[in-house]
Amino acid sequence: MSSTLMEVRNLKKHFPSPAGPVKAVDGINLKIEQGKSFGLVGESGCGKSTLIRVMLKLLEPTEGEIIFQGQDITKYGFREMRSLRKEMGMVFQDPHLALNPKMTVFDIISRPLKIHGLARKKGELMVQVVELMQAMGLQTEHMIRFPHELSGGQKQRIGVARAMAVEPKIIFLDEPTSALDVSVQTKILKLLEQARRERDLTFFYISHDINLIRVVADIMGVMYLGKIVEMGPKALLLKDPHHPYTRGLFAAVPEPDPDIIISEIQLTGEVPSPVNPPPGCNFNPRCPHVMDRCRKEEPEFKELSDGRSVACHLY
Ligand code: SF4
Repeated sequence: MSSTLMEVRNLKKHFPSPAGPVKAVDGINLKIEQGKSFGLVGESGCGKSTLIRVMLKLLEPTEGEIIFQGQDITKYGFREMRSLRKEMGMVFQDPHLALNPKMTVFDIISRPLKIHGLARKKGELMVQVVELMQAMGLQTEHMIRFPHELSGGQKQRIGVARAMAVEPKIIFLDEPTSALDVSVQTKILKLLEQARRERDLTFFYISHDINLIRVVADIMGVMYLGKIVEMGPKALLLKDPHHPYTRGLFAAVPEPDPDIIISEIQLTGEVPSPVNPPPGCNFNPRCPHVMDRCRKEEPEFKELSDGRSVACHLY
């Protein structure tokens, strides 16, 4: 049976601006189960990247709570977070920018091991680096190479090996394959899934690409304008998406499985500004099912009997 590894409650991150606060993250509630893969999908600018930076405490939240392994880490300072950092890994979107060009692959992967005192002697470091490289399907001869000598796919595998080096409990993956060719993406996703199962890791993916989230997630969340509008087991959401935004988002992607309902909703109109979101349900200017109530009253993020949660007055 799985247990909750991380939870956020009513998490907000508002940035000041001359026009008023930018509500990048605006009241997120979610739970991440140990050993599972959570996939959060949403259009660019919806607040996904800010959300993971707040969850990692790289940005301070404006409001809300962050619970990790049962501890409330919301108010943890630099020193307290330092000891927790090793439990939380991160894989960045652009492998070309994520690696220090002056360091060899060995130095890049072994650095977190040295920082956290997990291996000091060269022999110990070597054993662990080799093991991590093999886990990510890299040839050990690449250990003495510099990033510019490697392909994008190889660099991203090194980024993943570095994130796994200190045996974190959770790894956050921000669009981890979007900078890579499709054939390379598939290989990396397979290696990630294998590593997750073998090491009992928990993954938190964010992406604008439903096809990626469809492949990797156990639990899926859909984010719109700083809020999660629908969340639940992936199979449930894919088979029968409830929230009109989820249905519109899925409709934009060709669906190969004939058993899956093709939504009739086409997304039109622009995403409103996070500085001045519409009152009530913030999807109301784009929603084909909008009612009077939607313009006045914000829908509650409600858990339904089938195990999903949805924020819409229709449910
Ligand atoms: Fe549409 Fe109303 Fe549901 Fe918002 S609450 S998604 S406007 S039906």
